[in-house]
Amino acid sequence: MKLDFFSILGVIIVFIVLVFWLGQSLWIYLDARNKNNRFAILWGILGLFNCPIPLIVYLIVTRGNEKKCPNCKKAVERNMVICPHCGYSLGKACKSCGAFMEEDWEYCPHCSTKYEKGDN
Ligand SMILES: [Zn+2]
Ligand SMILES: [Zn+2]
Repeated sequence: MKLDFFSILGVIIVFIVLVFWLGQSLWIYLDARNKNNRFAILWGILGLFNCPIPLIVYLIVTRGNEKKCPNCKKAVERNMVICPHCGYSLGKACKSCGAFMEEDWEYCPHCSTKYEKGDN
């Protein structure tokens, strides 16, 4: 009787872990696919190897490169000049190399062009 209880408990724990594990992998895959990440399937496979390290790595990698459009609140990549969803201006483009620049940056970090205040 005691053995039965523990084996049932064991099965339940394994089951819960499996659900989390597969859920993690599936969630990563769907989230990556949603963002048109071309490595979505690889992220999903990575999620099968371990739990929860791939999830943490995935969140750091993708969320670190993301911000919210202040106009439509959708996720956009950090280096986008214009929101692809609503066309809202997210920053300015360097007039020399076209790279993304925050409004208040005085130097382009890509080509080192200097901007005077109010320039561009
Ligand atoms: Zn937007
Ligand atoms: Zn530049």
